[in-house]
Amino acid sequence: MRRIYMDNAATTPTDVGVIETMNPYYTLKYGNPNSVHFFGQETRDAVEKARIQVAHLIGATAREIIFTGGGTEADNHAIKGIAWANQKKGNHIITTKIEHHAVLHACNFLEKHGFRVTYLPVDKFGLIDPEDVKKAITEKTILISVMHANNEIGTVEPIKEIGKIAKEAEIYFHTDSVQTVGHIPIDVNDLGVDMLSMSGHKFYGPNGVGALFLKKGTKIVPLIDGGGQEKNRRAGTENVAGIVGMAKAAELAEKRMLKGEEVKIIKLRDKLITGVMKNIEHVRLNGHPTRRLPGNINLCFEFIEGESMLLSLDMKGVAASSGSACTSGSLEASHVLLAIGLPPEIAHGSLRLTLGKENTEEDVNYVVNVLPGIIKKLRELSPFQGKWEGIN
Ligand code: PLP
Repeated sequence: MRRIYMDNAATTPTDVGVIETMNPYYTLKYGNPNSVHFFGQETRDAVEKARIQVAHLIGATAREIIFTGGGTEADNHAIKGIAWANQKKGNHIITTKIEHHAVLHACNFLEKHGFRVTYLPVDKFGLIDPEDVKKAITEKTILISVMHANNEIGTVEPIKEIGKIAKEAEIYFHTDSVQTVGHIPIDVNDLGVDMLSMSGHKFYGPNGVGALFLKKGTKIVPLIDGGGQEKNRRAGTENVAGIVGMAKAAELAEKRMLKGEEVKIIKLRDKLITGVMKNIEHVRLNGHPTRRLPGNINLCFEFIEGESMLLSLDMKGVAASSGSACTSGSLEASHVLLAIGLPPEIAHGSLRLTLGKENTEEDVNYVVNVLPGIIKKLRELSPFQGKWEGIN
């Protein structure tokens, strides 16, 4: 059966070039980068070269990059690290209702330890109003954390505007850029952020490796205690192969962006959206029409369950997701779709298709052709059957 992968926001296939770059670090170049001998110096050199490459992708300097075990760790490190380091200054954090659970649950944890968190609302497109950020600031505010782009609905947030507000108020500003790094050009200085999280497996690098950009001069308490690695900011022997692989993925992403390859993905995305909306009734596009991640499509089909759509699509060879990858499997409606104002029964009928560099026009045509039949069948089986007929 033909298999089509349209779940690139959950994870991307590791690039062949990345794997080739990583392989010697499992077989020949296995020294601990903290060892003084040749084997150690060889891998130390590789880690430091990788740091320069990763920094380059986001306009940072190498010293400002801390390697982590992924995006979740980078988010936790930024949020808890700033909170612990600044608890004498204040205990208030501002974030949004649509953050990834890596941010939301880190904030929930801090609430149990004396911190107060404001979760800002978003509009119907999932956009944060920078004025709301400004209004939420108090003299106790120590951190603002707003994601660069939402992983479910793809909305790209006004980070630069919020960066200016944070700078004026002298408050640390963190952005979760896990879904944007390697997909849209990023310059940390232009965005005005003090911290930025990224994750290798979201841009064709390996799983389990990420990085936190920490602007020069920003002090945070380490999340992990142990040895003095990463200049005492993240203990533990470095994941050399993973780090080298993420750096290669960063280099390849830069090349793709220079060539404007995301335009091809945007065209496929728009073709899929138009094709589905034209052929199926009672469907809505979630997220912003233009301020949107290149590969993100998030649709709500009224009167059906997202999970049943996923299973039917899987039987036709199409891999997609409903809500975020981390919440699928649970029957709770997505917090992001509820935050943009969808009633739970509509939010339950969501389907996320996320395109990547490997997707083709044939993939899009296949999904556009196969989806109407699936939706029709599921609606016939739906307890809402009849209710939707005649609704426009
Ligand atoms: N933040 C966002 C916006 C994400 O989409 C994800 C992963 O889905 C994460 C954080 C967590 O990243 P990781 O899987 O590398 O821990």
